[in-house]
Amino acid sequence: MKGTYDRKEEIRQSKRVSAGAVICAIVFPLVISLILVIRVAALQSQVEEVDGAVVAVQTEDEQENGIYTTVSVEMSTRSENGISWPDEKEQSDQVWDKKIYLTFDDGPSRNTNRILDILKEYDVKATFFVVGKTDEESIKAYQRIVSEGHTLAMHSYSHKYAEVYESEESFIQDLEELQEYLYQITGVWSRYYRFPGGSSNAVSRVDIQELIQYLDESDITYFDWNIASGDAVSDILSAETITRNCVSGIDNRPESMILMHDALEKSTTVEALPQIIEQIQGRGDAVFLPITDETVPIQHVMADK
Ligand code: ZN
Repeated sequence: MKGTYDRKEEIRQSKRVSAGAVICAIVFPLVISLILVIRVAALQSQVEEVDGAVVAVQTEDEQENGIYTTVSVEMSTRSENGISWPDEKEQSDQVWDKKIYLTFDDGPSRNTNRILDILKEYDVKATFFVVGKTDEESIKAYQRIVSEGHTLAMHSYSHKYAEVYESEESFIQDLEELQEYLYQITGVWSRYYRFPGGSSNAVSRVDIQELIQYLDESDITYFDWNIASGDAVSDILSAETITRNCVSGIDNRPESMILMHDALEKSTTVEALPQIIEQIQGRGDAVFLPITDETVPIQHVMADK
């Protein structure tokens, strides 16, 4: 009898062991795959933005090497002569040494309202280079950007590099779709553009000069940036690092065009925004401006003329 009991117990145990092995063999890889799938999706959404960031870093280097001195010389001359722009006069009689343009790409997003709240709190006007979104929340966000005095600027409808830059026709189609859509929902005919990835992006299949010529003929001005917040590089960049990236480059130039992102996963950008504004306002020599016709554009690639 005892022998039979042991045998049964043995069988039970071996069943338990093999059940455990089966569970491990099936469940464990499943969980790992699930984690990887989620991670891949998150990384894919970062890839495009990293392109833009690489361009930004290169451009910073190029600027230091003096490639764009023509622009800076022109700007510093105007600044030294104390010429003030009309929109600036409206804000104050003071002539500011430094003009700061906060620019937010890729919105609207779930963060747009938080960004707008902060800008309102500090009475700062900025520029939003938006993409095309048709949900209710996004429509309200475009309208709020306009009604609170910020500049509504364009950053392509689809923001899909492969589509936007496939041909000159696809570029034009994408841009016109966004321009007309924004006009339809806000009444603003936007004439400011930022190329996805910047004008010096390495992904366009079309000669960027052809696109620049098209923009010129369409009375649209394109703007790149001369300070990158770095928030395109990683989702986990700390608010402190973003703040330092934004604030540290201001000393070197009369006009700072700061690249930031309005995207769901860029929450540290929102966290950094109050510090960025406070530190810049604390200098006492700088004014925040939205992009207008008076703004001297920062352009990585100049038109061939
Ligand atoms: Zn973008």
